[in-house]
Amino acid sequence: MRNLREKFARFMVGRYGSDELNRFLAMLTLVLIVINLFLRTNVLFVLELICLILFYLRMFSRNINGRFQENQRYLHYQFLVTETFRKWKFRFQEGRKYKIFKCPNCGQKLRIPRGKGKISIRCRKCGHEFLGKS
Ligand SMILES: [Zn+2]
Repeated sequence: MRNLREKFARFMVGRYGSDELNRFLAMLTLVLIVINLFLRTNVLFVLELICLILFYLRMFSRNINGRFQENQRYLHYQFLVTETFRKWKFRFQEGRKYKIFKCPNCGQKLRIPRGKGKISIRCRKCGHEFLGKS
């Protein structure tokens, strides 16, 4: 067992190994396998294979710089996706706490806390007052 581990360690010398993109590929493969347990389609099966092959090709690759660049690109997109979700979540939470009114005089958007009933709203831009239900 120890011998096998040593052989593998020697095999991996100078090879890329694992990174965030590979962890994502492994997760994706797993998710696809589970989904395909129910759907049993060839398309998903081919996708599973592609993900798995990419996973091993990247792990055993000797082009470390190339794989590093791929991972950097992946991290960039991952950041964009998580940021977008974070913004959506924020807007959703804000939307439950506040109501947005538009001043009928100047068009300024005003954020008013919800649940205060019918109130008089004073525009902070032009000073116009109007009634609104929060
Ligand atoms: Zn106004």
